[in-house]
Amino acid sequence: MSLPIEISANHKEVVEECRLLAKEVEPFAMEADDSSVMHEPTLTALRESGLTNLMVPSAYGGRFDEVDPLAVCLAREVFMKTSSHLDSAFALQGIGSYAISRVGTESQKEEWLPAVGRGDVLAALALTEPVAGSDLKGIETRAEPTNDGLVLNGAKSFISNAGAASFYTTLAKEGDGYSLFLVPADVEGLTVSPSPEIIAPHVLGELTFDGVVLPESSRLGDPGTAFRHVLATLSVFRISVAGAAVGLMEGALEEAVRHCRSREQFGRPLVKHGPVATLLADSWSDLESARLLTYQTAAMAAEDPEGNLDRSSLAKLTATEAATRVVDRCVQTMGRWGLIRGSKIEKYYRQARPMRVYEGASEVLRLGIASRLVKEVSDGA
Ligand SMILES: Cc1cc2nc3c(=O)[nH]c(=O)nc-3n(C[C@H](O)[C@H](O)[C@H](O)COP(=O)(O)OP(=O)(O)OC[C@H]3O[C@@H](n4cnc5c(N)ncnc54)[C@H](O)[C@@H]3O)c2cc1C
Repeated sequence: MSLPIEISANHKEVVEECRLLAKEVEPFAMEADDSSVMHEPTLTALRESGLTNLMVPSAYGGRFDEVDPLAVCLAREVFMKTSSHLDSAFALQGIGSYAISRVGTESQKEEWLPAVGRGDVLAALALTEPVAGSDLKGIETRAEPTNDGLVLNGAKSFISNAGAASFYTTLAKEGDGYSLFLVPADVEGLTVSPSPEIIAPHVLGELTFDGVVLPESSRLGDPGTAFRHVLATLSVFRISVAGAAVGLMEGALEEAVRHCRSREQFGRPLVKHGPVATLLADSWSDLESARLLTYQTAAMAAEDPEGNLDRSSLAKLTATEAATRVVDRCVQTMGRWGLIRGSKIEKYYRQARPMRVYEGASEVLRLGIASRLVKEVSDGA
């Protein structure tokens, strides 16, 4: 499907480059998307494309002055349509490093951001714990002062890129507050083990911090300010999940349309049967509304990343819930061909599901969205 709305020349260039990369990855996309460890050919293609430079500011080798939310959304849309593994490897470069771009010291920025932008090192964000998912204030990982700096103890769970990343931007309790720390993967006392396999394979791992000694200089931003930086990261990257959901919907709908155009029942193609046409039309409607909201929200986030969290949640909620509906309808229109293991449509069906859980479960997002709605109405906005 072609882009139905006008975007800038810079953004068009990004889309074209992403399409070239997706084309290169397409022949091994099924293999990559089945892998829960980093798929080297995919990573090499991503690195060689140079597109990881979208994830850092231009002062550190990036493409745009600051990470551009619309460019990231457009890239994820193209990648997710072809390969969730490619999409995730790309997205994590920004998700894991955004706090460094925002509040890192000059030396943290110089040490990590150019390498992230080139794709030479992989980034990760470690928030979730065995005991704490949606309720991140319930984490137990703690940083305590020692004579040598800080010591970190605790465990993180379901961390994307674990085992492949070179550093983990890690949330920990510090005193009565919460701080973020930049933890190099090769630090003594940090071990990684695999997470359980999920229905849509993903590079995931469990981290254990056992007496990890860190210098004070590994803190990101001021002590006690972690949630501001985490929320700013989510504000930009939740929208990008919406971008990925748009790409998934596009892929699923194209599969369904190709099938329904060529398969005949009762003497005419499936698309000519009213109920099938309705399923396809409703899906296109879901797709294009989600796309518009996603692009609009990404443009808003570029202006004001911090003030955009609830809008970002709204876009993510809308697009990921739509993706579930769309892919389910598409499977339905394809009858038994929608159910074949290892087919593209079956892959999309599985891949749509975790999107409603990670980076904020839909039910939790609705709470923030409703509060914002009440505030806007009360303020007369
Ligand atoms: C593929 C994948 C990749 C991930 N990558 C990362 C990563 O890189 N880094 C990281 O830190 N984490 C990561 N996670 C973890 C993810 O962030 C958590 O799964 C998510 O925050 C939800 O937490 P939970 O699974 O513990 O669910 P819980 O918090 O236990 O919630 C379970 C369900 O309860 C409901 N619920 C919870 N609280 C409320 C509430 N207040 N109101 C209404 N309903 C509620 C929701 O329906 C929710 O789905 C990843 C997860 C997946 C699946």
